[in-house]
Amino acid sequence: MDDNEMTAEPYKIKMIEHLKVTSREEREQFIREAGYNVFNLRSDDVYLDFLTDSGTSAMSEQQWAGMMLGDESYAGSRNFYHLESVVKEYYGYNYVVPTHQGRGAEHIIARMLIRPGTYIPGNMYFTTTRAHQELAGGTFADIIIDEAHQPSLSYPFKGNVDLQKLRDLIARVGAANIPYVSIATTVNMAGGQPISLGNLKQVRELTQQHGIKIIHDMARVAENAYMIQQYEPGYSDKPVAAIVREICALTDGATMSGKKDALVNIGGFLALNDLALYEEAINLVVLYEGLHTYGGMAGRDMEAMAIGITESVNEKHISARIKQVQYLGKKLLDGGVPIVLPVGTHGVYIDATAFLPHLSQLEFPAQALTIALYKEGGIRSMERGIVSAGRDQNTGEHIFPKMELVRMAIPRRVYTNLHISLAAEIAIKVYENRNNISGLKMVYEPKYLRFFQARFEPL
Ligand SMILES: *Cc1c(COP(=O)(O)O)cnc(C)c1O
Repeated sequence: MDDNEMTAEPYKIKMIEHLKVTSREEREQFIREAGYNVFNLRSDDVYLDFLTDSGTSAMSEQQWAGMMLGDESYAGSRNFYHLESVVKEYYGYNYVVPTHQGRGAEHIIARMLIRPGTYIPGNMYFTTTRAHQELAGGTFADIIIDEAHQPSLSYPFKGNVDLQKLRDLIARVGAANIPYVSIATTVNMAGGQPISLGNLKQVRELTQQHGIKIIHDMARVAENAYMIQQYEPGYSDKPVAAIVREICALTDGATMSGKKDALVNIGGFLALNDLALYEEAINLVVLYEGLHTYGGMAGRDMEAMAIGITESVNEKHISARIKQVQYLGKKLLDGGVPIVLPVGTHGVYIDATAFLPHLSQLEFPAQALTIALYKEGGIRSMERGIVSAGRDQNTGEHIFPKMELVRMAIPRRVYTNLHISLAAEIAIKVYENRNNISGLKMVYEPKYLRFFQARFEPL
């Protein structure tokens, strides 16, 4: 078989979940009741759920067996020690603080390192990451390369940092006002795009010259490492596991959402190399998450995450995972649907601006497209445009992102390749009837992370 072809799933299915098939009339009623926001739908009313790859993975029999080995002691659970040894072995960080999920770790790192008035550069923002930086009084600064903001431009490492942007920021605000650079592997909001090791090494060099830390947002580090293995010269013979270690070694600490790469339904951690910082972190975690040997997770969940981390760097797993996503991308492209190129690692991002050129950004084109996909075939996808971008914290105005995207994120090991094929056909049908899609107006807007709970009406 050709190396670039999609392979059959490298697992077989032991336990199944039934899917409900609904009629178009039912779906129209459900989405109206949901305030035209797919976050408000009941998952039972969704046929193919591509809302997110977060916490939606299917666990392996080894992980389920691990759940039965949960040590639910309040302090010193054996599962914590297992998790700690796996994090050290696979990621190389010295200290691990479990948290209930990634944002728990983001809260703690932001609270420890960010002082009001400081700047946190990053290779594009992520919703919860930026929210915690701002809550701590910091200002996010986007230092990703310009190519990342051009959806139709195929460029292999769109997650790369523009070093000149970082140099300019350092010159403008001073290194002392930059507590750390936030580096995401991969960049979720750019379409699941990887950063290259060559670029990360340069970021490390520059930050080291100025005594600035790098905090690694490592939710999809194995997926990023696979892309390096496939597309960065010099890495094709390196195992994904070795590339993961190399990435982590260039950073000073990390926040991890175990709900992505690590194949669990809940969990996360903060990883650090510095002892003093670790001691401060375990003091804070007691206040916000739980004792430092469970941090908001059950023992069984720590066990499943430890095992999931070992599975995440398995070559067969990671290759099948990403090839399935690329297969969806290829089918959509063949059907003429405008998507972000190259296809990212955890989902396909449809370019809603190109899909619905008749809608202005204030008619919420990406949100409108999520509604059309649901009505057509019961597909749940996610808006990644002006609704997700929120408002400027100083002016209160909408932030107008350069891209209006709809993400079809693929849960790991959940859907068969036939499901993926069907999803592409549904999206292509929506594309063929795109002129009938109208915009929306927002009728209820929550203060924080509005995309989760906002409500709309059709125009
Ligand atoms: C999911 C995610 C987070 C937040 O993690 P949660 O587990 O959802 O709290 C942070 N950064 C990135 C890039 C993510 O994808």
